[in-house]
Amino acid sequence: IEHSQNLPGHFPQGATVGVLTTQPLDRILDYRAPEGGCLQGAFVEVPLGPRKVAGVVWGPGQGDWDPAKLRAVGRVLDVAPMRDEMREFLTRAAQYTMTPLSAMLRLATRAPGFGETPSMRKIYRPGPGTPDRMTPARQKVLAVLEEFGGLSFTLSELAEMAGVGPSVVKGLLPSGAVLEQDTPRDLPYPRLDPALPGKPLTEDQAAASAAIVAGIAQGRYGTTLLKGVTGSGKTEVYLEAVAECLRQGRQALVLLPEIALTAEFLTRVQARFGAPPAEWHSGVTSTERRRCWKMVAEGGAQLVVGARSALFLPYRDLGLVVVDEEHDTSYKQEDGVLYNARDMAVLRASLNDAQVVLASATPSLESWANAQAGKYRRLELKARFGTAELPDMRAIDMRDQSLPAQRWISDTLQSEMSARIEAGEQSLLFINRRGYAPVTICRACGHQVGCDNCDARMVEHRFLKRLVCHQCGDTRPVPEVCPACEVEGRLAAVGPGVERLAEEAAALFPDARVATLSSDLYGSARALKARIEAIAAGDADIVIGTQMVAKGHNFPLLTLVGVIDADLGLQGSDLRAAERTFQLVRQVAGRAGRAQKRGVAYLQTYQPEHAVIRAILAGDDEGFWAAEAEQRRAAGVPPYGRMAGIVLSATDARALNDLGLQMARNSEPLRQIGAQVFGPAPAPIARIKARHRMRLLVKADKGVPLQPALERWLAQFRIPATIRVQVDIDPQSF
Ligand code: ADP
Ligand code: ZN
Repeated sequence: IEHSQNLPGHFPQGATVGVLTTQPLDRILDYRAPEGGCLQGAFVEVPLGPRKVAGVVWGPGQGDWDPAKLRAVGRVLDVAPMRDEMREFLTRAAQYTMTPLSAMLRLATRAPGFGETPSMRKIYRPGPGTPDRMTPARQKVLAVLEEFGGLSFTLSELAEMAGVGPSVVKGLLPSGAVLEQDTPRDLPYPRLDPALPGKPLTEDQAAASAAIVAGIAQGRYGTTLLKGVTGSGKTEVYLEAVAECLRQGRQALVLLPEIALTAEFLTRVQARFGAPPAEWHSGVTSTERRRCWKMVAEGGAQLVVGARSALFLPYRDLGLVVVDEEHDTSYKQEDGVLYNARDMAVLRASLNDAQVVLASATPSLESWANAQAGKYRRLELKARFGTAELPDMRAIDMRDQSLPAQRWISDTLQSEMSARIEAGEQSLLFINRRGYAPVTICRACGHQVGCDNCDARMVEHRFLKRLVCHQCGDTRPVPEVCPACEVEGRLAAVGPGVERLAEEAAALFPDARVATLSSDLYGSARALKARIEAIAAGDADIVIGTQMVAKGHNFPLLTLVGVIDADLGLQGSDLRAAERTFQLVRQVAGRAGRAQKRGVAYLQTYQPEHAVIRAILAGDDEGFWAAEAEQRRAAGVPPYGRMAGIVLSATDARALNDLGLQMARNSEPLRQIGAQVFGPAPAPIARIKARHRMRLLVKADKGVPLQPALERWLAQFRIPATIRVQVDIDPQSF
């Protein structure tokens, strides 16, 4: 720190500095710079009331204080100061999403103990010795070490994974069965080598990667929409872009929508660059997260693969952000800070002179429109790599099939499945519903079992032997007696969920191996990954899956896909419903025939003449998007207009309604920019965890300053502490 004393952005001792803390105060507080001064962006500890809290030196102090009367910054943390572009990113993201800046800073500092001084720590790994005495607890520890052969753990990690107390681990030290070792904290990640040869690219692939690579080589911002069917080699293309980024000595970030996808990606990075990347997602231990945060800041991590929050890591020099499966709705964070990682990736990259690659087989209408408008470069991979072809798409008109009650697999699909089993190939049945049955109904009184806290039905999960609320997670045993009429033994499961479909498949094909893939059936990401790998290797004849199977797993033996209810997403009033159905069904169908053989995808539908179903059958992406764009433009909704949802929630429905009406009536600041207010109406989920929810929707033309107007509008109301107001810019459903 001494040598930086005369740098711009250095505040000498005693100067007044503004510190943004992670506390939910929407204000930057003034402090006195500590002994030795501090840099702009420095992570510091400051006194706040009786406590010490973490913060960042955001800039010069604002107030006209006598510095002698101000409290001094306590401690400058031993981490690289936040860079200017990161502060700019957080500021702009806060303005765009209308979130307090302190909440943004919390996202950016979510690494446990990021301010601790580096020191040695003890790690534990398997040793050659044999324990003098074996106990079940000791066995558990050794089993964990064996399962993750070669990995080292901290004491608490190892004890937690084995489900034993730390003393059990310590007890294994004297015999040498477990070894204890001192290592420095937070080692850099193994170097990735961009000079290792990649796969020779096809002409299409080479053209696409050349365009992105050129942008990186020039060190400028640009966004590319990389469209290509599943299996066309989008990953190969963006790995070339990663290679260029590494050659330039800059960092790259690859965002994936699902942790279960990281395993395959890690293997590919290892094969391409000789070492795995750093990982950042909820499945990573806190020790690793802390290491990742520090190494990203110091440059000891060249490539990060992660979930959306990886955008908020403190990159030293970010040159490339890839958003894979960019259309995926999970990129929109739906609680806490409401942001869309795809949009934030573009913002972050533009502030870092970095390139963005948005990869998808079925891009979001937003990105499609941006490409049409010339804001994004659009590159397309037309063919699947190698001999694999797109599946043949066919509809099964369910009106012609007379299925008995509580059966969902049509005769056509059944006979196709049986042909696959004979040929040693795999079939996939897709249904976008977790659990056994979506509805539990009493045959005596007609009561449908609902959640006590939410406006939602309880979903039976037979695997868990419980009813589960998919909104709040509340669960209870499946009742014997109807909660309404108290008649016993008349409760019935109605409708199909993934577990029930598996039951039907098993009954139709008693000798077949049926595998169910649903996120809730696996205790950990690791278990899920292992199952997916086993299935890919051939350890199943029939795979039954929810939405998660749509996302990019490779099943080379899979040649048949059956979409059980292709109409499911088409109902409802949501204007995005058609787009979602189109994307999901196209993605699932893309699972068929990835290796040598052409696949077939069947859509079971009651409305084969529906425009969306027809576009899917015809493989007419452009036609679908053009038609969908026309409708959205006519309605003036995103991406051709701007929209914000204001969600009010409280336990008292009356107060909520009063406030909602008051807001709708006093909308002058919005009228000034030509915006309209709709509602209040019950929010898409009208009650969650016993809180009622109302929503107002604000619609404005593109290009108007919506956020400042929203701010002026909301500032007019005295909002009681019992009512929570959340602004959702670009809501997912409207
Ligand atoms: P996508 O990301 O579009 O789904 P991938 O990049 O995963 O496609 O490619 C699909 C499969 O084809 C992968 O197994 C990949 O290794 C292989 N592949 C793609 N392009 C090439 C190439 N040029 N040479 C060799 N194999 C390739
Ligand atoms: Zn609930």
